Amino acid sequence: MGYCTKCGQKLPDDAFFCTHCGARTKAGAEAGATTSTEEFREAMAKMGQELEKAFSTAAKEIQEAFKTARENARHSTGKGAILCQSCDSKNPNDASFCSSCGKKLDRK
Ligand SMILES: [Zn+2]
Ligand SMILES: [Zn+2]
Repeated sequence: MGYCTKCGQKLPDDAFFCTHCGARTKAGAEAGATTSTEEFREAMAKMGQELEKAFSTAAKEIQEAFKTARENARHSTGKGAILCQSCDSKNPNDASFCSSCGKKLDRK
């Protein structure tokens, strides 16, 4: 039977961590067990930074993709657009009425 070096809790010899305060025991240290407190938190913080980096990179890429998609959409709309004969505004290919003035679009 061992004792916790931190809080004095009685512990089984094979315990790696104190059942009372969570401190790593001598046996735990020898076995190389990592504590669920400090080291874990450090590892998580590091991982969080990495994830954040990855996320912001991904976000940038997504923004770029959206931008490209928007430009492409604008392009295709401009290309195949129907010009309103009454107000000269561009309307999407599948439009039946002008989105600006409401006049029926003449499809040829
Ligand atoms: Zn303890
Ligand atoms: Zn119009």
